[in-house]
Amino acid sequence: MTPDEFRVFGHALVDWIAEYRSSLPKLRVMSDSEPGEIRALLPPEPPSEPEPMESLFADLRRVVLPGITHWSHPRFFAYFPANSSLAAVLADLVASGLGAQCMSWQTSPAATELEEVMMDWLRQMVGLPQNFVGALQDTASTATLVALICARERAAKLSSARPMTVYASEQAHSSVEKAVRLAGFGPANLRLIETDREFALVPHQLEEAISADVALGKWPAAVVATVGTTGTMAVDPVHAIAQIAADHRMWLHIDAAMAGSAMLLPECRPMWRGVEQADSLVFNPHKWLGATFDCSAYYVRDPAHLVQVMATHPSFLKTSQDQRVKNFRDWGIPLGRRFRALKLWFLIREQGVRALQARLRRDLANARWLAQQVDASPEWERMAPVLFQTVSLRHRPPGLEGERLNVHNQSLADRVNQGGAAYLTTAVVGGSLIVRVSIGSETTEREDVAAIWSLLNGEAKALL
Ligand code: PLP
Repeated sequence: MTPDEFRVFGHALVDWIAEYRSSLPKLRVMSDSEPGEIRALLPPEPPSEPEPMESLFADLRRVVLPGITHWSHPRFFAYFPANSSLAAVLADLVASGLGAQCMSWQTSPAATELEEVMMDWLRQMVGLPQNFVGALQDTASTATLVALICARERAAKLSSARPMTVYASEQAHSSVEKAVRLAGFGPANLRLIETDREFALVPHQLEEAISADVALGKWPAAVVATVGTTGTMAVDPVHAIAQIAADHRMWLHIDAAMAGSAMLLPECRPMWRGVEQADSLVFNPHKWLGATFDCSAYYVRDPAHLVQVMATHPSFLKTSQDQRVKNFRDWGIPLGRRFRALKLWFLIREQGVRALQARLRRDLANARWLAQQVDASPEWERMAPVLFQTVSLRHRPPGLEGERLNVHNQSLADRVNQGGAAYLTTAVVGGSLIVRVSIGSETTEREDVAAIWSLLNGEAKALL
């Protein structure tokens, strides 16, 4: 494709995306595609001759769109939001257009220096101390793996080969378990600590687990505190956990994948009191904030240790600036790196911090409104405190208990999703199946939250 052809097709594609975004409210949210249906529309073999771009465009509509669940839909209430602000979409286009490789400073100085500045803008935006520095990673899962590898290396210097243990709450994300396995601690050395009625880690249970392990000759290497668990957005008591981590010289990693964005709001920051004592922290601007996936901000207090663990020094990567610059390939696992900082730059500049804060506050207010509706309805039960934007609830008609109640609520969620007017997901927390209404799509307004509430009520009635 020549640059002139690109100009024509690029304009057409931007128009296509704009039209798609405008038409979202009219589309069903969850794809109703059956397994194998999209595959059947695709030729099993690659074309040997060039095809016109027009036929590709037509296939976007015919083949791809029916198999898309619309994460930017105003009635997307599933998982956590993965907002893809249009300014960030444009930045991703620029990044692809530049085709820059950001592994070393020299391979694109602007990419490295913009990333340094974006990491510092984000740090200021969420109120982290000045000594927190970091790099963008693809996902929180990778960041947590990097954190636990660093923890392992630091503990290895202290522990003279004793078996090492890692601690997290029983509500921690599955990426913690995965990182424990991949970092080589072994699944048997992960301790999932009991949580309280609000699904937050209980510090004295952590203390007891550590003491029991020490008595068995193990070396407690790391603890992961979650600020905003996936199930219910519970918050572990960071301050108390940090104290325990310090007492045992353990690595403290904070997983604030979702809730980190909320810390743009000074009124939310008391919830992660003690955060400045963390050795590492991750939050995902690719969730609530709007930086198109993938974009995970990973901070550390001691970058020298991170670089020592992650750096390699092959002759083919040496540059004459190595002593004077950051080479972000040494701040994580992959060598090759995309130019992710651009989408933060576009997003933050196009919106401004104040507008981002206003959107987050809108979502928090909508979640509080929904919680009030649930609390005022005798047949509904709120299953967790609403600290942020997720409302955990279930329908509880008289006479239904235990597994039958769980099945009832799963059917309720399935009916909402199959109807196509909204999309939400469930989780099992403390043995109960909860329906999670996760508010925070960029275009979700109060009327959309009111709509999911009346949809839930309607489907609940239809089920009985
Ligand atoms: N940690 C928490 C608390 C999450 O909720 C999630 C995903 O929702 C993750 C980690 C994993 O995020 P990622 O997809 O960036 O690996």
